[in-house]
Amino acid sequence: MDAGGTDPFAETDDQQALRQLARDVAERELTPNARHWDETEEFPQGSWDALRKADLFGITITEKYGGMGMGDVEAAIVLEELARADVSSAILAQLIFNGPPRAIEHLGSDALKERWLPMAASGEGLFCIGISETEAGSAVNHMRARLTADGDGYRLNAYKNYVTGGHKAAACLVWCRFPGSEGSKGIGAVVVDLTSDGVTMAGTHVKMGLRGTSEAELAFDDVYVAPEDVLLPGDPADSESFKTLIAHINHERCGNAAMCIGAAQGSLEYAVRYMNERTVGGRPIAELQGLQWKVADMATQLEGARLLLLRALHLAGPQGTPPALETAMAKTAANLAAKFVCDEAIQLLGGYGYSREYPVERAYRDIRGLCIGAGTVEIQRNFVGSQVVRGKTSASPGWRNPLV
Ligand SMILES: Cc1cc2nc3c(=O)[nH]c(=O)nc-3n(C[C@H](O)[C@H](O)[C@H](O)COP(=O)(O)OP(=O)(O)OC[C@H]3O[C@@H](n4cnc5c(N)ncnc54)[C@H](O)[C@@H]3O)c2cc1C
Repeated sequence: MDAGGTDPFAETDDQQALRQLARDVAERELTPNARHWDETEEFPQGSWDALRKADLFGITITEKYGGMGMGDVEAAIVLEELARADVSSAILAQLIFNGPPRAIEHLGSDALKERWLPMAASGEGLFCIGISETEAGSAVNHMRARLTADGDGYRLNAYKNYVTGGHKAAACLVWCRFPGSEGSKGIGAVVVDLTSDGVTMAGTHVKMGLRGTSEAELAFDDVYVAPEDVLLPGDPADSESFKTLIAHINHERCGNAAMCIGAAQGSLEYAVRYMNERTVGGRPIAELQGLQWKVADMATQLEGARLLLLRALHLAGPQGTPPALETAMAKTAANLAAKFVCDEAIQLLGGYGYSREYPVERAYRDIRGLCIGAGTVEIQRNFVGSQVVRGKTSASPGWRNPLV
């Protein structure tokens, strides 16, 4: 029987076409090479070239700078499809869609947009974001990165840790203290050309997963920052710029959730195909009710996370920023669902699930990093809990987006 209603999150024809394009690129170019990038820890150049050829890098950048001017829903569609095949490759798109170019587009001057957005839209260069430091990860307001005045501009001294793609990027969005800043007051952000004098790539981390895209340590020693390179100035009298930057991270958090959902979807599909082919005692294991219950739990958690993400994305509107509470809920649900689904997929494949020759263990290792990046699950829970105990509910009418 027909359900009799319409799906409020149904994709438009254009969105469906975008999904198909991303899926075709992912299945043709990412799936066959994902294991290679993982085993060798090489930068997934083939994925980069394929995304560039398909014109996928520019989808969220305004037409004026060579992009297509789409929003968070479309970004999530592409990220989900790419991560369904390979999360390391999807991260390249995440850094463009929801990283520095998006911040420059929403918060930057015309000069910054003209300098960097055409490069991002065409896929000519990668971008990275330097927020975390060795002593300031979750407690980001303890950061030491600092600007000192130099003529009309500044000098930047900073050591940023875990900068995804920092070894390959053309520019880095660096969160830092403006002169006179203490605590969360006076924190702003600047865009640094990584070929500038004083920038050094101190090393890359050796990781469990996401091995195609390295996390770099970047040192900035007295790097000159021109006035036009300031994305958002910090005022030592208040923390308004810091709050704006934190709110803008919601784009990245939604992208992180989309990648988790994509990787979990890929693992679920792989496990279901395997269950229909694998026979034990003459019967496909898909017929075992105990295993069907696992699949039911996997699909239910995944769909719940997807719905939370869709709500956060749709609340953002075509050019807005996803709201904080709904985003934190979506990231938490997607991180936990992906951990559960990928883990159960390994179990359903038995011994083969544990082998690096099958893709589900790679997906598990990859999404594990996404539960830490862009604000850990615990930090999301802190925020959700602090809101709920104050009586705020999801999509609360009292909520106001500071960026709109
Ligand atoms: C794959 C990956 C990619 C990353 N990419 C980037 C990037 O591109 N740019 C960038 O700047 N950073 C990046 N990071 C860094 C990431 O943002 C930090 O690792 C993260 O914010 C946690 O900081 P930390 O590692 O210092 O852990 P800590 O802050 O030291 O936390 C350690 C543990 O304590 C918990 N914890 C901390 N404070 C609280 C609290 N108040 N309540 C409850 N629990 C708490 C944490 O959740 C965690 O479990 C990346 C990390 C990973 C894993």
